[in-house]
Amino acid sequence: MRLTIVGTGYVGLVTGTCLANTGNDVICLDIDQTKIDQLNQGKIPIYEPGLEEMIERNVRAGRLKFSTDRASAYAHGQIVFICVGTPSDDQGKADLSAVMAVGRDVGEAIDRLNDDDEPKVIVVKSTVPVGTNKKVRAEIAGKTGKSFHMASNPEFLKEGAAINDFNKPDRVVIGVADPSAGHRMRQLYEPFVRQGNPIMVMDIPSAEMVKYAANTMLATKISFINEIAALCESFGADVDEVRRGMCSDSRIGNKFLYPGLGYGGSCFPKDVLACIGMGDESGTETKLLKSVDQVNQQQRKRFIAKIDNHFGGELTGQKIAIWGLAFKPETDDMREAPSVTIIEHLLEHGAKVTAYDPVAEASAQAIFDGRIGYTPDPYSACEDAAALVVCTDWDEFKNPDLYGLKSRMNQPVVFDGRNLYKPNVMKSKGFTYYSVGRAPAIP
Ligand code: NAD
Repeated sequence: MRLTIVGTGYVGLVTGTCLANTGNDVICLDIDQTKIDQLNQGKIPIYEPGLEEMIERNVRAGRLKFSTDRASAYAHGQIVFICVGTPSDDQGKADLSAVMAVGRDVGEAIDRLNDDDEPKVIVVKSTVPVGTNKKVRAEIAGKTGKSFHMASNPEFLKEGAAINDFNKPDRVVIGVADPSAGHRMRQLYEPFVRQGNPIMVMDIPSAEMVKYAANTMLATKISFINEIAALCESFGADVDEVRRGMCSDSRIGNKFLYPGLGYGGSCFPKDVLACIGMGDESGTETKLLKSVDQVNQQQRKRFIAKIDNHFGGELTGQKIAIWGLAFKPETDDMREAPSVTIIEHLLEHGAKVTAYDPVAEASAQAIFDGRIGYTPDPYSACEDAAALVVCTDWDEFKNPDLYGLKSRMNQPVVFDGRNLYKPNVMKSKGFTYYSVGRAPAIP
């Protein structure tokens, strides 16, 4: 099929590449000229394992192209996927301005079609509040009287494992109002669900809601275990032991129940807020989700308080090392990353920050603009440091050379926001060690 993918971010780029890889003829469109120039020079603007090689192969095969030319890109696709961002607006609601702008462009493109051209299917893949497909339909219909179909196809990929998630999805959710659009979408996704995982076709509002329900459920699990971790700290229990006991119950399971610095990234924070916004707009109380958000914000503050307490509130001039900047491993995405909240606090109180992250340095530079230093390896970041703060659970931090680390640091103090190490081991190696939901280890 001829496909147009609008937006070459984490979702659009992976979607376009994986759909080209199954033999479709794909044009990826973006309004960001720099991004498209980079892609046309073979440079990938994001870090996503395996993506570069896959893009290269599909570009070479002539199935994948990148463009800023709206007229020709929109004319190309029998199916048009809208994959633009839907960040929070200043009231926490989903900002739909990019989605609606695409709707207007699509309407104009459809109006230029010949009367006997087949109607296009316009698919909203961006995460959007229930009712958005209807609004996009109205936006398109405002520009043309010609016929077209709408579909909702929320995306469930995880950054860092995006290609695998797209190629082997747990499920594909498709919302349609008419069977012919459902049939075309099913055909497109058939190669991805051969492993027995289902394609679920449903009405559009339900498909839109599935994405928010899934993401807010995952955010709820994270806030839940973080609240349990706070109770563990207050009563001298060890959250790792509590997790072990609790998660062996098959009704509970062990996924997404790791205490830490709270959820971050470009999805959970904004999707929880968007759901609360949907509740406010419709007069539906969302007490649980409001608490999920509050617990998440509190989690970062609780961790920062441990750092402040250790230094007696005096951070001026202290050299602090940071391991991990990205909001999670295997990505360079720093949107809503806990590291940003922690580093901003440290800088505000006069600390000197040196950070190491295997891939997120460029993203960090865009945020901190020269206010922090970077090192090419984790140990150099700790040279003469008064403390190390672990913000991201990259694999390379999981088994460090503790002797080497201690010998480089000015004071052997570790604040571990991901519970990567065992308190008794850290204590025996002479570290003062703070983690989440476990008593501090002090030698
Ligand atoms: P992103 O910010 O990385 O990328 C969005 C892209 O859209 C940018 O390159 C931007 O330049 C482009 N764009 C904006 N307006 C445009 C227009 N009018 N025409 C063409 N291009 C335009 O966003 P993302 O992380 O890929 O997320 C996209 C959507 O998918 C969001 O709704 C998000 O919630 C959802 N989602 C994201 C993830 C994820 O892990 N990032 C996972 C599932 C769903």
